[in-house]
Amino acid sequence: MKNPSKIIRAENLTWPGLARKDYKTDGSGFRDVSRYVLFGEREDESGLNMQTRYFEIGEGGYSSLERHRHPHTVVIAKGRGSMILGDRFVQLEAMDAIYIAPETVHQFHADRGEPMGFLCIVDRYRDRPEIPKNEAELAEWIPDPDVRKKARI
Ligand code: MN
Repeated sequence: MKNPSKIIRAENLTWPGLARKDYKTDGSGFRDVSRYVLFGEREDESGLNMQTRYFEIGEGGYSSLERHRHPHTVVIAKGRGSMILGDRFVQLEAMDAIYIAPETVHQFHADRGEPMGFLCIVDRYRDRPEIPKNEAELAEWIPDPDVRKKARI
């Protein structure tokens, strides 16, 4: 059997051999986010229990405000921005590494004058994210009004 080990070559901070996909195919609550799945979706990677993805948020964009049971890790790879992480709103710089614990509300923002790109490593099989249904639910998820006013839903 052929050894399935491989290298996906980057050019100019992107991967010409991979498809750039929409962030999500359903729903709203996000703006200007693209996604590459580097590993963990293809047939020859069936032994992987995790996925390695790269997301890029255009200047002024943001990811979904969400929470879920599975934890994940994020490493900022490009640019800078901010995020809601539980009850905090924090600024992020390239190579900052973030652990998002189970059921922690989170949302990434490219709100500092440039795009922000990040790697996200997550379980291959995982629960679907939950998003707040309305403003009342958002207020339960994020009690602090100063943090809540940063949220985009
Ligand atoms: Mn998430």
